[in-house]
Amino acid sequence: MVLDAPGRRLELRTLPTPEPAAGEVLLRVLACGVCRTDLHVLDGELEHPKLPLVLGHQIVGEVLEGGTRFAAGDRVGVPWLGATCGTCRYCTAGRENLCDAPRFTGYDVDGGFAEQAVADERFCFPIPVGYPDAQAAPLLCAGLIGYRSLRLAGDAAALGLYGFGAAAHIVCQVAVAQGREVYAGTRAGDDDAQRFAQSLGAVWAGDAMEGPPAELDAVIVFAPDGALVPAALAALRKGGSVVCAGIHMSDIPAFPYEALWGERLIRSVANLTRADGDEFLALAPTVPVRTEVEVSPLADANEVLDRLRRGDVRGAAVLVP
Ligand SMILES: [Zn+2]
Ligand SMILES: [Zn+2]
Repeated sequence: MVLDAPGRRLELRTLPTPEPAAGEVLLRVLACGVCRTDLHVLDGELEHPKLPLVLGHQIVGEVLEGGTRFAAGDRVGVPWLGATCGTCRYCTAGRENLCDAPRFTGYDVDGGFAEQAVADERFCFPIPVGYPDAQAAPLLCAGLIGYRSLRLAGDAAALGLYGFGAAAHIVCQVAVAQGREVYAGTRAGDDDAQRFAQSLGAVWAGDAMEGPPAELDAVIVFAPDGALVPAALAALRKGGSVVCAGIHMSDIPAFPYEALWGERLIRSVANLTRADGDEFLALAPTVPVRTEVEVSPLADANEVLDRLRRGDVRGAAVLVP
């Protein structure tokens, strides 16, 4: 499914079989998760993508050939972080998520809305056993970046998750297993999402703009709506943090300094490191994280993206060739 230019529909097209360069694996795509970031690329909110482009950065694939790290037949995952420079001040300081010259899957290089893909083997992960292909796919971005966001929320015992989509439904399970109280903020009147959050252990689910009846230690904002940031701040205790997990967000409205006073923090989360991935993929089966997925054929990618835009996906959307 090919994107020719931002704003266009994806087109089903036959492309040449991708050729793995040295250090790359050729994969048969078994499943690929659909992420809000795919919409940001499609809509031109993330600028200068490779064009034409195959979107998709939550690839579960079977190794066909190439590289030395994996054997043919191995099942591997390809995340958003497709490659880094390895030499910049961030890469050499264990912060490769902030690399100055990264390549992102389904943005700078072709991704997984396809039958085959190539990937730098150093940035692939073994898929934990016990996860079927489609259920494993959302672990690779919703899970990994969700988990990094949770880590950056610190030891928050009362944790808000604002925007209850693919990432929040995974983070909620991890947070509840860690003994935290989860407060799920959704759009006003989104009963489905609120019931879904409660079924996964949230102690409260309601309108994010109004906020919960309790003071929160941290809020992770997953929805790309800047108005949620002052709303999250208003729910925080002194010293608490708002963690913005998305790669793009609408402008944050002005708010009085008083709302930030009391050593409250606002921070973003950018990308992932391979260490995040190793840690989360080891943790997920022990929780155990169970992903709820809506599986669709690859050729339906446009309709699935439309549903995601409308907020009509429960859990995570996954495409299967
Ligand atoms: Zn993503
Ligand atoms: Zn770098």
